[in-house]
Amino acid sequence: MHTDLVAALDIGGTKIAGALVDRQGRILVRAQRPTPAREDGETVMRAVDAVLDELTASPLWQRAGAVGIGSAGPVDATAGTVSPVNVPGWRDYPLVSRVRTAAGGLPVELIGDGVAIAAAEHWQGAARGHDNALCMVVSTGVGGGLVLGGRLHPGPTGNAGHIGHISVDLDGDLCPCGSRGCVERIASGPNIARRALDNGWRPGPDGDTSAAAVAAAARAGDPVAVASFERAARALAAGIAATATLVEIDIAVIGGGVGKAGEVLFAPLRQALTEYATLSFVHRLAVTPAQMGTDAGLVGAAAAALARSADAAVAAV
Ligand SMILES: [Zn+2]
Repeated sequence: MHTDLVAALDIGGTKIAGALVDRQGRILVRAQRPTPAREDGETVMRAVDAVLDELTASPLWQRAGAVGIGSAGPVDATAGTVSPVNVPGWRDYPLVSRVRTAAGGLPVELIGDGVAIAAAEHWQGAARGHDNALCMVVSTGVGGGLVLGGRLHPGPTGNAGHIGHISVDLDGDLCPCGSRGCVERIASGPNIARRALDNGWRPGPDGDTSAAAVAAAARAGDPVAVASFERAARALAAGIAATATLVEIDIAVIGGGVGKAGEVLFAPLRQALTEYATLSFVHRLAVTPAQMGTDAGLVGAAAAALARSADAAVAAV
């Protein structure tokens, strides 16, 4: 059987998306269900099964050789389990074996959603052509993934590059992860908005207190909104600089809702990087907005499945 496609699953707290993807990263078939995130684990799995049922019903399914899953984390690729923070019904949930069964025994590759985004940006987006990259998602949370030496670096459990929970403020606020002063605790959308509100910023007549509303206020010159984005930018810069110093990345790509804030975020971020990324070998570090759209998770999961297929082919020679 000629298997020139892979199946991809993108599993998040609000939706479960699936696709059949070709070797150029084109999505040929897609399916989607809302995530019943507050339900029990088997109910959530039924939504995954419904997505897979749609994919397996396609005549193109016969050409699928592997399944890639990008899931909200934490994931454990070694154990084949997931424990997404926003899906309490899944704790050490054996997603890989369940998907393998539903997919007729195809090999399954599991990575975290941040790692999937990195795979997608490296394959087709802003990190294309860069052998050493950190790709981040800054939205409700802060996640990320690494490309090192030209290859995706998921780490043993599939979570490497999770920059949101690097501490950049030793005595900072407690983070839901249990640590203090994490990048996410300062730079996520809700934390940007919270800090602006705490310091006296007030929303407009529409009552919108999202980070996007704070970004709009910052663009209009509101000093409290500007300061909240500057603080987030400094936290991101400290985390990016630490990453660059450790593993010599040459580009950091920032996506997610906060990444769309534009120069309100990127101008202070570049400035802060000059303060934190100080050694000669990280001076040329670039930061740039992500290019992949809402399909990044699917494309990245497909990339991981294709890479696994390629490794298996090499191993079989
Ligand atoms: Zn944390």
